[in-house]
Amino acid sequence: MKNEIGKLYIELGEEYNFFAPIKEKGNLVFKKILNPDDIILDYFNSKVPPKEILFPKTEVLFEYKTDGKEVTEIIERKDLEEKNIIFGIRPCDAHAFVLMENFFAFGDYQDEIFLKKRENSIIIGVGCNNPKSTCFCTSVEGHPFQKDDMDIFLVDLGEKYLVEAISEKGKNLMNKMPWLKNATKKDVQKAAELSKQAEESIVTKLDLKDIEKVLDPNFDHPIWREVSEICIGCGTCSFLCPTCTCFDVIDDNDQYNNRGRRIRIWDTCQFCLYSLHTSGHNPRDSCIERCRNRILHKFCYYPENYNTLGCVGCGRCIQLCPVNNDLRSIIEKIKKIDIKKEEKISA
Ligand code: SF4
Ligand code: SF4
Repeated sequence: MKNEIGKLYIELGEEYNFFAPIKEKGNLVFKKILNPDDIILDYFNSKVPPKEILFPKTEVLFEYKTDGKEVTEIIERKDLEEKNIIFGIRPCDAHAFVLMENFFAFGDYQDEIFLKKRENSIIIGVGCNNPKSTCFCTSVEGHPFQKDDMDIFLVDLGEKYLVEAISEKGKNLMNKMPWLKNATKKDVQKAAELSKQAEESIVTKLDLKDIEKVLDPNFDHPIWREVSEICIGCGTCSFLCPTCTCFDVIDDNDQYNNRGRRIRIWDTCQFCLYSLHTSGHNPRDSCIERCRNRILHKFCYYPENYNTLGCVGCGRCIQLCPVNNDLRSIIEKIKKIDIKKEEKISA
């Protein structure tokens, strides 16, 4: 099937926005493609995760008209009914969509924009044959060949792909590809071998069992000073994390033309302004509290709220932190904390 990706695009490109990994200015990025020859499937992982397809860095939520004082009309978006194919994503990033959905669908106020786009998207993912040293998906309930979060799952067998429909959506889409050939027993066997090899090649094994039970009573532990000492608060670890969902909302008001736009932009708990109150009080005043919040959010609050960890083990925060503040060593230090210890930090 390798040379048939173009065929797939030609068949589906008119009906769907077709997002896939391509090279742009030396980086691998997920973009709506116009030429299937640009698709690169033999990649490690994109710097910016594909979360930006459903949750862009900057997004106009809606536009409005005013009479100079009051809003007189909300102009709803028309693009939310568009259908998307998200092609070539890795299992960790596909699982991150599930975690994002937990957040955007939680509570009384559901995020209809995110959820509509998610509903209208078909995920065609590809197994991760060569995990890197920074990957640890198997420590966070994942696997380099995990297919449950995809609609169609591909395995790169070298000269061709093994294609498997996982969901109803995936089965319906595969019916539109009559040119696919039946897989042989040898193909299935080779895919199983690649899966095993990929799993065995993951060197990082973290013990995350019950980590929330260690974190919860140790909010004031001195370890937070230690793990934040080298952090420069750049926010890279959360901006590029596929499961981070924090955002800010601003109104871009054009008073001369009596109209405006409400815009959502990515934000991060690693910035001091993020938690600054209008009163001037900031509950996360120092880097110590902000670093602690990132870890507690993923490994304590997230399991408490959604009964699963808030990290998919993609390794981006390890790879891209400019000062090498390595999440793996932070977790190892946390696991060594004596739960009963009653030391306190002095920020
Ligand atoms: S990427 Fe590193 S330096 Fe930047 S905020 Fe995260 S831990 Fe701190
Ligand atoms: S915390 Fe780090 S390893 Fe975990 S999902 Fe986010 S970027 Fe990936």
